[in-house]
Amino acid sequence: MITLFKNKGECCGCSACSQICPKNAISMITDEKGFLYPSISSDKCIECNACKTVCPIQNKFTYFDYSQKSFALKHLNAGERKSSSSGGAFIELAKSVINNNGSVYGAAFDKTFKVKHIRVTTLPELEQLKKSKYVQSDITGIYSQVKTDLNEGHPVLFSGTGCQVQGLKNYLKKPYDNLLCVDIVCHGVPSQKVFDDYLSMLENKYKSKIISVNFRGKAVKNKVQDMLIKFENGKTYSSIAALDSYYSFFIKNFDLRESCYSCQFSCPDRTGDISLADFWKIENQYPEFQDYKGISLLLINSEKGQHAFDTIKSNYDFIETPIELAMSQSPFKKPFDKPHKSDLFWNIYISKGYDACVKKLHFMPKLKYKIKRLLK
Ligand SMILES: Cc1cc2nc3c(=O)[nH]c(=O)nc-3n(C[C@H](O)[C@H](O)[C@H](O)COP(=O)(O)OP(=O)(O)OC[C@H]3O[C@@H](n4cnc5c(N)ncnc54)[C@H](O)[C@@H]3O)c2cc1C
Repeated sequence: MITLFKNKGECCGCSACSQICPKNAISMITDEKGFLYPSISSDKCIECNACKTVCPIQNKFTYFDYSQKSFALKHLNAGERKSSSSGGAFIELAKSVINNNGSVYGAAFDKTFKVKHIRVTTLPELEQLKKSKYVQSDITGIYSQVKTDLNEGHPVLFSGTGCQVQGLKNYLKKPYDNLLCVDIVCHGVPSQKVFDDYLSMLENKYKSKIISVNFRGKAVKNKVQDMLIKFENGKTYSSIAALDSYYSFFIKNFDLRESCYSCQFSCPDRTGDISLADFWKIENQYPEFQDYKGISLLLINSEKGQHAFDTIKSNYDFIETPIELAMSQSPFKKPFDKPHKSDLFWNIYISKGYDACVKKLHFMPKLKYKIKRLLK
């Protein structure tokens, strides 16, 4: 009987193993933290090892032999920029594929705010893929759809975290000229279960159903609102990241998937033809370029990536930056260390639930932050 990993840190949850299995012997099951892990049915397993050959963690990834270039860019259309996380780099790459009768794959919310990868073939549908959802997206069944599109000769843009992109490439087994991969630079993912619990807490507090969630609300009249949530009763909740419990656990890396702390994709070598990130602290080097409305970092990692960028660049105000500047951002260097409070977070979460985590691990830091700001 095949076992896929020795400890949970060796599974990123991309589900490539489950999707490649010729006997459908592998199901993805949610654990007590809310992350998906493969479970193999010994009755069905024929020990063909197909699952092991596609695992992006157990197999070293091969990167492009290309001299990388990096750009800081902002969309010329203010609306496109506002409705994207950073400078709106993703949207034009996606539009150009759709306009060529292609399909785009990326992460979207469903009606109950579950984050799932979906296939999009029209421009209006693309809106669903915009903006980061800081939750691990469920990618079940997607790789086979991508393969079908590719074999039918359609251009395909697949976007996802580094492990999801590499999971796809391993699943496909061979390169496709009509596939453009975009890796979304990621420092780690929290689980859907924690996110659901956070939303329930807010619904109870506001006594109303949530109708929209926006992780990157952007500033309105200089009021930063990283998290922006709207309710059926017309009320709105907005908060800066440091004062919002979900955001604060995420940016302090308390509640990430175990494999994120040893992520092999947190490095300068990339698995996508293009990598996208926020260009943090660009003002230190290029103060004139910073306008605090969101700036994308676009990294070109292959000739195909260069061609895709050449096709869309007229839509942006951009500058080429030294590659060392781009690579100085944390997720390009190495994975984040696991903070000692992470185990405490999960112990409280599993035994007492999300609200208890907020009381024990968020209330005091929030108070300290508020006092510090008042004193300033
Ligand atoms: C979990 C996560 C962690 C991140 N961490 C960092 C970081 O530490 N540093 C940094 O510089 N940037 C990080 N990013 C990337 C950043 O938030 C923006 O996604 C990126 O700058 C692209 O912005 P954009 O304006 O070009 O396009 P947008 O329109 O905002 O891009 C949307 C794209 O993001 C994809 N996407 C959204 N949510 C998810 C998800 N849950 N899983 C996979 N793909 C998703 C969509 O499919 C689409 O391709 C992270 C993104 C995610 C999803």
